[in-house]
Amino acid sequence: MAANLLDFDLEGLAAFCDGLGEKRFRATQLFRWIHQKGAGDFAQMSDLAKSLRDKLAGAAQIKPLGVISEHTSADGTVKWLFDVGNGDAVETVFIPEDGRGTLCLSSQAGCAVGCRFCSTGHQGFSRNLTTGEILAQLWHAEHHLRPRLGLAAGERAVTNVVMMGMGEPLQNYAALVPALRVMLDDHGYGLSRRRVTVSTSGVVPMIDRLRDDCPVALAVSLHAPDDALRDSLVPLNRKYPLAQLLAACKRYLDTAPRDFITFEYCMLDGVNDSLAQADALVRLVRQSGVACKFNLIPFNPFPASGLSCTPRARVLAFAQRLQDAGLVTTVRKTRGDDIDAACGQLAGEVQDRTRIGERMRRIPIVVTQPAQGV
Ligand code: SF4
Repeated sequence: MAANLLDFDLEGLAAFCDGLGEKRFRATQLFRWIHQKGAGDFAQMSDLAKSLRDKLAGAAQIKPLGVISEHTSADGTVKWLFDVGNGDAVETVFIPEDGRGTLCLSSQAGCAVGCRFCSTGHQGFSRNLTTGEILAQLWHAEHHLRPRLGLAAGERAVTNVVMMGMGEPLQNYAALVPALRVMLDDHGYGLSRRRVTVSTSGVVPMIDRLRDDCPVALAVSLHAPDDALRDSLVPLNRKYPLAQLLAACKRYLDTAPRDFITFEYCMLDGVNDSLAQADALVRLVRQSGVACKFNLIPFNPFPASGLSCTPRARVLAFAQRLQDAGLVTTVRKTRGDDIDAACGQLAGEVQDRTRIGERMRRIPIVVTQPAQGV
């Protein structure tokens, strides 16, 4: 079967070219054609010898993902739904802002973590994406957006990548790391480590491995100030409780390109949004010694969740409480409202082979109310 060249980082592509009897500089040329120029056809690669192009045509392909749908919001946000085969689909979202364009990528078809407030988590897990499938989302977005945005030669549409779409990226580590390397490679997308963020629900051993293998910015889905509540919102907490997670965050900062961890906190009405819980969060992160920023996320309701979003005034009061305690806190802006659906909703039901959606609906949420005051 023809190798998909989107599966390789530069080292992998050099090894592949070596197998064809080609020198390393040919791999670099090929890599630049694919990732910098968006070439999908070897015939376009005019500075490669015809003999090499013929060899590649027999042994390799640059395999895009099929586009099921594309929606563009009035504010410029673009959402794609990509076909990854076998009835599964994944979402990718581009968010343009002044001076930057952030692309949110998926790492798995579905997700096995099963967070209570997450539409993807309710669908269960189908399979890991390959490196090529992760990168095909970026490859497609970058090279389709450039002409649409009227960018000059050398300008990039995607300036930031966040691994925050469908899936837990650190449960697909083997495919994730080569994809990150291509994003960071100067011959690839040339993004700085500060502009690539991996978001995790807290896979502690893999946080440590990422610190050593490919440190990029880290965001951690916290969502609760204590283990009892977090156990019921993010089931992975039963395996890696808060003390272990925060210790791993602290270790991560040894090599991280930013000097803080971003804690994501989805605001759920009557569940995790009281001022007493804000105070408990302050105590938690102070005791841990982790330099951090908070990003409060207004919950995007979907029927199966049985949850609702915290009213705006209470989100702001919660943010103020954290800020008053000296924690930098932002409230995520909602973007693309006119095309919106909670993350994972566009994809519909993935092929759930884990029955996680069924199991999670039977687990009660344990709401805890700590004492107020820090
Ligand atoms: S929030 Fe992330 S880790 Fe949790 S179920 Fe959704 S995709 Fe998985």
